[in-house]
Amino acid sequence: MHLLVIGAGVFGAASALELRRRGQAVTLIEAGPLGRPEAASTDASKLVRLEYGDDEPSTALMEQTLPRWRAWNEAFRAAGQPPPFHEDGVLVLSGGPLRAGSFEGDSHALLARRGHALVRLDHAALAARYPAWAHSPLSDGWWNPQGGWAEAARVTRWLAESAAAAGAELRTGLSLTGLRERGGRVVGAVARDAAGRKLELNADAVVLAAGTWCAQAAPELHGELPLRLVAQPICCFRPPRPQDYRPPAFPPFAADIARTGFYGFPALPDGRVKLGQHSEGLAVPDADVPRAHV
Ligand SMILES: Cc1cc2nc3c(=O)[nH]c(=O)nc-3n(C[C@H](O)[C@H](O)[C@H](O)COP(=O)(O)OP(=O)(O)OC[C@H]3O[C@@H](n4cnc5c(N)ncnc54)[C@H](O)[C@@H]3O)c2cc1C
Repeated sequence: MHLLVIGAGVFGAASALELRRRGQAVTLIEAGPLGRPEAASTDASKLVRLEYGDDEPSTALMEQTLPRWRAWNEAFRAAGQPPPFHEDGVLVLSGGPLRAGSFEGDSHALLARRGHALVRLDHAALAARYPAWAHSPLSDGWWNPQGGWAEAARVTRWLAESAAAAGAELRTGLSLTGLRERGGRVVGAVARDAAGRKLELNADAVVLAAGTWCAQAAPELHGELPLRLVAQPICCFRPPRPQDYRPPAFPPFAADIARTGFYGFPALPDGRVKLGQHSEGLAVPDADVPRAHV
C-alpha cells in the first residue's frame, strides 16, 4: 500500500515512520522546510504529562508513550546526541483542596487508581521542596515522577529524518492543494512545488496531518472538519538566576491550570523560562496569520 502523509509536524512525521516500520510505502510531503517555524511542533519544549482529568483513554495512552520516549532517548544517545525527553516529573498544583469534578481532583483520583505513586504536597511541603513556589497561593497538588517535557522541534525533525532513513520519500517545499478522488475514494493529491508547478500524486490513502492548516490544505473537507482556529500565547522570561529554575527544584508545572490556564517549564539551557496559557485563545481567520513576537 502506498500512503501519502501530508505535513511533517509531529503527527505526520511519527505516522510516516511508523507506517514505514509496518512495511508500507510512504511519501511524506511538507509545505515548508523541516521544522517550519509556524508549525505547532516547532517549539523548544512541550509537556509530556499523564494528567488528563478523568479521561482514562488519554491517560492510558500516555502511559504507553513513556517507554517509547525512553527508547527514543536511547536512540539519540546511541547516535551520540543528547536525549530530548527530560523525565523531570510534572508538578500539578491546585488553588484549593483537590475535589472530585475538577481537573486536578479527577487527574489525581484516576492516576492513584491506576497505581501511580504521586507525591502529595500541601503548601508547606510545596514551599520546602520547591522554593520558587513558596510565595504562590497554590495550596494543594502533587509531583508525578512520571512525565516531563520534550524538546519538541528536535524530536520532530528526528522523526521525519528517521522516516526518510527508513525508506520514506520525504519531499519538502511541496504543498498539498487538494485531494484527488475517483469513485468516491481518495486516490491521491494535487500539490504545488515552490516554483508554482502543479503535481498530481497517486496514493492508496492520504493521511492529512497538516495541523492548523488542515482546512486550507484540503478545501473539499471545509465544512466537514469542525475546526476553529485560535492563537495561543507563550511568554519567555529571563530570570536573573536561571539555576533556581532548573530541576529537581523546578520541574515542569501546571499551576491551577483548569482555572488559570498557566503551565510552564524549567529554564532552557539559554536561561529562558517558558510559560504558556492554555485558553480559549484568540480566534484567527486562517493558519497563515503572522505569529506576533512581543
Ligand atoms: C502554544 C501551544 C502549546 C502546546 N503545548 C503542548 C504541550 O505542552 N504538550 C503537548 O503534548 N502538546 C502541546 N501542544 C499541542 C501540540 O503542539 C500539537 O498537538 C502538535 O504539535 C500538532 O502537531 P501536528 O503535526 O498536527 O501539526 P504541526 O506541528 O502544525 O505540523 C503541521 C505541518 O503540516 C505542514 N503543512 C501545512 N499545510 C500543508 C500543505 N498544504 N501541504 C503540505 N504540508 C503542509 C506544516 O508546514 C507543518 O509542518 C501545544 C500547542 C500549542 C499551539
